[in-house]
Amino acid sequence: MTVRASDSRKGALIDFIQGIYGPPPITLHRPVFEGNERLYLVDSIDSNFVSSVGARVTEFEGRLAAFTGATHGIAAVNGTAALHTALLLVGVERGDEVISQALTFVATCNAINYIGARAVFVDVDRDTLGMSPEALRSWLETNTRCEGGRTVNVATGARIKACVPMHTFGIPCRIEMIAEICAEFGIALVEDTAESLGSYVGKKHTGTFGQIAAFSFNGNKIITTGGGGMIVTNDGEIARRARHLTTTAKRPHRYEFFHDEVGYNYRLPNLNAALGCAQMEVLPAMLKIKAEVAARYRAFCSEQGLHFIEAPAGTTSNNWLNAILFDDRAARDDFLKFSNETGVMTRPIWRLMTELPMFAECQQDGLEQARWLVDRVVNLPSSVPQSEFERLKP
Ligand SMILES: *Cc1c(COP(=O)(O)O)cnc(C)c1O
Repeated sequence: MTVRASDSRKGALIDFIQGIYGPPPITLHRPVFEGNERLYLVDSIDSNFVSSVGARVTEFEGRLAAFTGATHGIAAVNGTAALHTALLLVGVERGDEVISQALTFVATCNAINYIGARAVFVDVDRDTLGMSPEALRSWLETNTRCEGGRTVNVATGARIKACVPMHTFGIPCRIEMIAEICAEFGIALVEDTAESLGSYVGKKHTGTFGQIAAFSFNGNKIITTGGGGMIVTNDGEIARRARHLTTTAKRPHRYEFFHDEVGYNYRLPNLNAALGCAQMEVLPAMLKIKAEVAARYRAFCSEQGLHFIEAPAGTTSNNWLNAILFDDRAARDDFLKFSNETGVMTRPIWRLMTELPMFAECQQDGLEQARWLVDRVVNLPSSVPQSEFERLKP
């Protein structure tokens, strides 16, 4: 049973949230710098290495790669730049098509458009809020044919080059099945792991199922470097190309400037990486605390008969953003208005990409579950509570 518009449970929920976070204003997700952030930042300033050549960049890359179990990490200025680079690295070119989900943050699809490629949208699963493997297979079987080893869209004649599923709010999508389908159709798998640092399928970290993945360390993400992103891959050649392309494609030389293609200024500055190193130290504690907050929400919701969205069995969410489901759009809107008026920030899920002008014409499969979810999902405050800050101290 989910929430009704006129329900007094909405008041109980707001009280419960204030019990965790104290009096309003309460934000959805605030950054926390209780570890060595200040220390490493000042170190980095004093070292004069503030841009992308410093030791903290390499250290941060190593730490993040080790945490996820990937072989290589390449730090980028933000998650969008990491995704853009990832798509280029798997060979997406102008005129290609890339399959993604309409229920995502706009950056996923902007990265596709930067290349002059076109997004195709398939539906999501109702429980994971991530790409549905059944929808993916069904779209591919209905709309594509195999042509000289390539999967081609029958309607447009374009090559389907890549697939970009997203692990929404940290809940892993059915990535193993998606990986199998991509392999079967010869499509590169690029995971948008912007929201899923610390999320696993079994014991395998999200972002290690395809050729490449892109993380984000924006201010609202589970760890932050102010702005930042990271490409991870197990492919040494892709990693080498990632380093090259994100540093203006400059051939290494002591003093000569030779660039062998159009590259990008996409490497993460050392200052931001300094924050990243400190945030990686507290990540395990952060994940524990966030799991406890999610457990409190879960218990409260089950007591109140509210529908709390949980990661499917066999997967572990990082509990980045907690979410509940309302009965319908009216109930959702009623709660959003009520909570935001009391200073407790809550938020609907994104508009579907197909409702945005730049993606309105993209091919899609009807998006039945995505539409259903858009009417009902609300995100709840999910930060580390102030009372737990002590546990993040060095
Ligand atoms: C945050 C986010 C991004 C982009 O990350 P930035 O670092 O803000 O550029 C991409 N995809 C999803 C799903 C995100 O949530």
